[in-house]
Amino acid sequence: MRFKDQVAVITGGAQGLGEAFARRFASEGARVVIIDLQCEKCEQLAAQLRQTYAIETLAISANVANPEAMQHAVDGICHAFGRVDIWVNNAGIYRGTPLEWLDMDEWNLMIEVNYTGVFVCTKAIAPVMKRQRYGRIINMSSIAGRTGFKNSVAYCSNKAAVIGLTRATAMDLAPFGVTVNAVCPGSILTDMLRRVDAEICRNEGWPIGTHIARKAEQIPMGRLGTPEEVASVVAFLASPDASYVTGQSIEVDGGEIVV
Ligand code: NAD
Repeated sequence: MRFKDQVAVITGGAQGLGEAFARRFASEGARVVIIDLQCEKCEQLAAQLRQTYAIETLAISANVANPEAMQHAVDGICHAFGRVDIWVNNAGIYRGTPLEWLDMDEWNLMIEVNYTGVFVCTKAIAPVMKRQRYGRIINMSSIAGRTGFKNSVAYCSNKAAVIGLTRATAMDLAPFGVTVNAVCPGSILTDMLRRVDAEICRNEGWPIGTHIARKAEQIPMGRLGTPEEVASVVAFLASPDASYVTGQSIEVDGGEIVV
């Protein structure tokens, strides 16, 4: 019970990686707050975790890129629980668009959710953690931020920017006992990856699942990762074991980036 009575907030927590993080923190005793655009899913998961783990939970339907909404969310969480120990900036979107078709609307939307959203949430939660003189902020980047992927100019840029934001925020918050780290997952089987597979297979005329199968063959460990494997690293960064780790970006990718 590493996180007993701590408060863990996960943005984009209604499904996929965020759901796995919420389950992991709940299973280790934390009070869990899920923030997501998907209101119903968010509430269902919060109710399920409350029942399964006998913990307090909160579901908040909000857009991470909206400063007023996120300030309101932070105020609400502090009112309900009095503190926030862990904040995972996980909400994100992917669009696989070739450069020549990437218009300003899509570019701006990607920046807004994947990058500005991390800034907005960090700015809202930092004063609380500074006051506490304790906090753990974990940002979801990607190996896409470390390398280049085809048809992913916006996504790769956003995820690289998150690594820069992580390092700089870590510098500002280190004197206050707040650590800030990024996690860079490789290919993890969630709806996001299934959508990528469907799109690539449709464009290439392949049967569904072909892209995922080929991807798995290229990964040194010979398989995709699971959300739970990413959750283990997020939980490590949030735990006392990572008390002297800040400003880092850790790949969880089965060796994908090495090849
Ligand atoms: P997902 O699409 O399954 O889940 C993303 C969640 O974020 C959804 O519940 C969605 O409703 C929510 N969301 C989207 N925009 C939001 C907004 N503006 N405000 C609040 N919530 C919002 O994706 P996933 O695979 O679980 O990915 C989670 C994070 O991990 C993303 O940041 C993604 O870029 C990153 N990531 C995923 C992979 C992977 O292989 N799945 C790899 C590397 C990085």
